[in-house]
Amino acid sequence: MNLILMGLPGAGKGTQAERIEDTYPIAHISTGDMFRAAMAAGTALGKEAKGFIDKGQLVPDSVTNGIVKERLAESDTDAGYMLDGFPRTIQQAEALETITADLKKPLDAVINIDVAPAKLVDRLSGRFICKTCGATYHKIYNPPKVAGTCDRCGGHEFFQREDDKPATVKNRLKVNIEMNTPLLDFYKKKGLLHTVNGDQDIDKVFADIKAILATVAK
Ligand SMILES: [Zn+2]
Repeated sequence: MNLILMGLPGAGKGTQAERIEDTYPIAHISTGDMFRAAMAAGTALGKEAKGFIDKGQLVPDSVTNGIVKERLAESDTDAGYMLDGFPRTIQQAEALETITADLKKPLDAVINIDVAPAKLVDRLSGRFICKTCGATYHKIYNPPKVAGTCDRCGGHEFFQREDDKPATVKNRLKVNIEMNTPLLDFYKKKGLLHTVNGDQDIDKVFADIKAILATVAK
């Protein structure tokens, strides 16, 4: 079973990736892990990637695609793989088609965990911190017992980190939506795209993913 897992920041992709990995005998391949492994192993492509990363430059597609190919050629993906964080562009998606065809490990499904961006803004920008004692709260997941009062020190002044502010979160989502939309269209046209409603509890989201995987399982 060969998959790509997609979802915007805050959609719960990490949690569902763990569940999938625990349930199916497939290799979870995240872009970050793949680069770190290639660099640690000191492969020719790993060294090339390191050169760009050390200079603070983007790793070119030719190198990234080569690393993906080497990773997918490894035997732990024979029973299946789940790509997470790759592809990020249509060019990479097209290269992946060639790679997986060459390796005879074609994609079976692309799972997109879908949550409305406005909901994601609430999830991602909910964190705030007590100015006095540094206790961390979340508007939805972990509010103080008495609104406006810190549970730990009784303080009433709170602040948000720059990364947690709605404007920053909105911008991060916008960048991700612009990147994801063409990929979703690409895989929809290929008949590989499956959309899961990510605005449900974690168990229900995973049940929906399992139902989809049952229809594509090999
Ligand atoms: Zn406090």
